[in-house]
Amino acid sequence: MIPYGKQNITEEDILAVTNALKCDFLTQGPTILEFEQKFSTYIGCKYSVAVANGTAALHLCALALDVNENSKVITTPITFAASANCIKYCGGEVVFSDIDKETYLIDIPKIKQLLESQPKGTFSGIVPVDFAGRAVNLEELKKIADEYNLWIIEDSCHSPGGYFIDSKGVQQNCGNGNFADLAIFSFHPVKHIATGEGGMITTNDEELYKKLLMLRTHGITRDTNVFENSLELANGTDKHNGNYPGWYMEMQTLGYNYRFTDFQAALGISQLEKAKTGIEKRRAIAKRYNEAFQNSSFIKGQSGVIEGHAYHLYIIEVENRLGLYNHLRENKIFAQIHYIPCHLMPFYKAQGNKEGNQPIAENYYKNCISLPMYPTLTETEQDFVIATILNFYK
Ligand SMILES: *Cc1c(COP(=O)(O)O)cnc(C)c1O
Repeated sequence: MIPYGKQNITEEDILAVTNALKCDFLTQGPTILEFEQKFSTYIGCKYSVAVANGTAALHLCALALDVNENSKVITTPITFAASANCIKYCGGEVVFSDIDKETYLIDIPKIKQLLESQPKGTFSGIVPVDFAGRAVNLEELKKIADEYNLWIIEDSCHSPGGYFIDSKGVQQNCGNGNFADLAIFSFHPVKHIATGEGGMITTNDEELYKKLLMLRTHGITRDTNVFENSLELANGTDKHNGNYPGWYMEMQTLGYNYRFTDFQAALGISQLEKAKTGIEKRRAIAKRYNEAFQNSSFIKGQSGVIEGHAYHLYIIEVENRLGLYNHLRENKIFAQIHYIPCHLMPFYKAQGNKEGNQPIAENYYKNCISLPMYPTLTETEQDFVIATILNFYK
């Protein structure tokens, strides 16, 4: 059986986890901070906050940016539902804006049109997605966001290790916080770095970082510098020595339990060491697919070598997609579809979205299919996938 994506757990990973299990900490131990710091180095940002999963990461970002009933937020229809759902968790409104038909990413000129069509102040933020591993040009997006006073949460779940080249020729890694307020990653097994469940928020903003740390654990702080209650109240008596007692902590805002665990962090650190070679492998696989399909007129894809693409997914657009999907399944190749347009999910239809609203995304959905793409896919397996596809169209 050949799936579309698969985790790569090695003996070193297993050893890292068993070692972590022998330590004193199961949750919130020192390994989490170590993983966060190593992740920051890998991405090139100042701060990282590890959380329970990518969806929790999005939720905390929306909370940290004060999304509420008055917030209108723009995102792409071609993404996993969580990119939009985080806005709904906070009572906000999601406004979908169509994709570009070549890159499959949210179409930046179209965002501009949308913003211009409404009075200034209508929208609060944008959630762009580095879909399939291809980086959104956040330098361009931020120019528009600044003009309209919008924040940016970059959904980088598909693109740890991905990047774009900015107007000065500088490499800008996905999630590095240079053009977005916050970015998020997922460590679900199909993503580049797997910890079972898990997620990460990255930022360069110290204030947001501190807020996220509190929100991750019930809104509770143990930082004596920020306590609001008096020493008398904290001690439960008028008698005190001028210090807050050792047990004292304060819940200052409504947070959640979105904590990550120490043994997951140990796995994350071990996985991170393989991240670079994993991306190289993914790019090599993409190159072989590109070459195999370059003369096939029935296949359209993100053709050519795309610099900075992290290749979480390798997507092609084909005629008779259903036929190909079933033919692949008969040959034990489990391709997948990314994604059913989010605005056509019954939940979002009930919010006023309908067919025809996002024509490029809807058209893309008719033909798209994601082929097997993961570092341990062998050349023999890939050749079999390629032959099975070409055979179907013969
Ligand atoms: C996987 C994914 C998420 C959610 O991550 P989880 O860890 O599964 O909660 C969010 N956005 C995108 C684009 C994803 O691919």
